[in-house]
Parts: sequence; structure tokens; C-alpha cells
Amino acid sequence: MPTELSLVIPVYNEKDNLALLTEKIFAVLKGKVDSFEIIYIDDGSTDGSSEILNELASRFEVIKVYHFTQNNGQTAAFSAGFAKAVGKLVIAMDADLQVDPADILKLIPYSKDYDVVCGIRAKREDSWVKKISSKIGNGVRNWLTHESISDTGCPLKLFKNEVVKSFYLFEGMHRFLPTLAKMNGFTVIEVPVAHYPRQHGYSKYGIGNRMWKGLKDALAVRWMQQRKISYMFKSENK
Ligand code: UDP
Ligand code: MG
Repeated sequence: MPTELSLVIPVYNEKDNLALLTEKIFAVLKGKVDSFEIIYIDDGSTDGSSEILNELASRFEVIKVYHFTQNNGQTAAFSAGFAKAVGKLVIAMDADLQVDPADILKLIPYSKDYDVVCGIRAKREDSWVKKISSKIGNGVRNWLTHESISDTGCPLKLFKNEVVKSFYLFEGMHRFLPTLAKMNGFTVIEVPVAHYPRQHGYSKYGIGNRMWKGLKDALAVRWMQQRKISYMFKSENK
């Protein structure tokens, strides 16, 4: 039987979130989704997350854990997880419990009509510095890429499997997944989801490593949009 849902979750030093996150995912999906897999990509953790993930994988068959040799960044982790995902639908989600796994069930029905369902953090629970920098980031990104996505950084998104397989990602591009999907001909809808403050661990991003890189990345995506190859055959003679 084909797997219905794959969850792809990048993990970089999230030891105190992993057991609770896994428990919550099981509680939410049990009886609601026929078959699922949880793919944890361990992005070079050094805090004991790796051992916890191995223990979870040995207890539950549906949990698959891949350990990077070093910290390669969140986009690399998503890229690796997307390559491994076999589910018809793929959830991209952070490991830090800032979103509620229960909202996965909110996104799934939209996949009937759309290829990508992107969460919007309706009431975002982060520091004001982070909220403001993210607002500016979204504004600049949308302006440069002629986009209207209101919260591309929302840590909960759903994709049809063919969408994630269509991506060829570069570092930083996990912030542009809805735009990249549109470029590849897929449809996107945004749906409000809940957001919570981080309870355990620490954020891996500050203004320095998000704003400026984000600006460069937005220019790169704009370039890709402008240079996108598109053609149709008038006729074929084989
Ligand atoms: N993460 C990762 N590699 C990195 C940085 C972050 O895999 O180099 C993971 C991290 O463990 C979390 C997600 O990506 O699951 C989002 O990171 P974080 O919560 O620090 O970002 P924020 O919510 O503060 O934007
Ligand atoms: Mg977070």
C-alpha cells in the first residue's frame, strides 16, 4: 500500500523537543492517516539529539533517521528529506514544536485542490526583533520576486510529492519553497496555523544570518524567475 504522508523534519540540536514532538505526531495521525513515515534529518547535532533519534528509530518502524556528517543547514536537510520521502503528501516541519502537529490535519484537505499548502502564523509567538525582521524579509522577498506569499517562513507546509521532487535547492532556498513551486507550475494556497514560543533549545538564526543572506537569496530567486526556461513543441516527428 502506498504511504500516504511523509513528514520531513530537520533537526539541529533539539534534544529536549524530540520525544514530545514524536509523541504529538503519533497522537495526531493515529486513526486519521492510513500510513505515514517520519523522516528526521539530523543536521550535525552535537547535543545528544542524534542518540535520541536513533533510539526513536529503533522503537518505531515508521521513524527514519538520517545523520549528516556535519551541520549543512536547514535547506540541505529539507533537500535530503524530500529526496527520501515516499508519501503521496509531504509535510515540511520544524522540530522545535513552534507549530502544532495537529494543524497537519487542517492542511491535508486543501491538497485536493492545491499542490502546496503553506501555513501562515496567524499569531506569531517570537521576539519582536524576529517578528519585525521577518516582516521586512517577507516584504523585500515579495517585492523582488513579485510574490504575494504572506509567511513563507512558516514552519509548517504541505506539498504533493511531485512538488518536492521538482525542487533543485540551494542553501537558503527553503525560505522560497512556495515561489519555487509556482515557478515549476504548481498551485499554492495559504492557511492560518497556530504558533507557539520555543519552550526548549534555542533559535539557530539571528538578524545577521537571516536578513542579508535572505536579500541575496531573493535576488537569486528573481534571477531564476527571469531566466526560467519555457518551451512548447509545435509538432513532433519521431
Ligand atoms: N535547523 C537545522 N539546521 C540548521 C538550523 C536549523 O536543521 O542549521 C532546524 C532546527 O533544528 C529546527 C528548524 O531547522 O527544527 C528551524 O530552526 P529554528 O527553530 O532555529 O529557526 P526559527 O524558528 O528560530 O526561525
Ligand atoms: Mg523555530
